[in-house]
Amino acid sequence: MTDLRSDLHLASMTHCPSCKSEVKPRVENAAFPFCTERCRAVDLGRWFLGAYRVPGPPAPSDEQRPEPDEADEPER
Ligand SMILES: [Zn+2]
Repeated sequence: MTDLRSDLHLASMTHCPSCKSEVKPRVENAAFPFCTERCRAVDLGRWFLGAYRVPGPPAPSDEQRPEPDEADEPER
């Protein structure tokens, strides 16, 4: 039951999601929750790349492509 204090301490401690180093409080850090603008840019870029690579639902244009099986083919 003495963990409350350490919990509070953890809550006030922020670590940069990019480089894991300590981050200054928001009041004195424009790049919060990152340690620097540089780290923020790095993380943003990484997230952006991930968004492009992530296998998600097919693109709308893909759905409009007629299925070879069900499309009634006109005579060629
Ligand atoms: Zn950092």
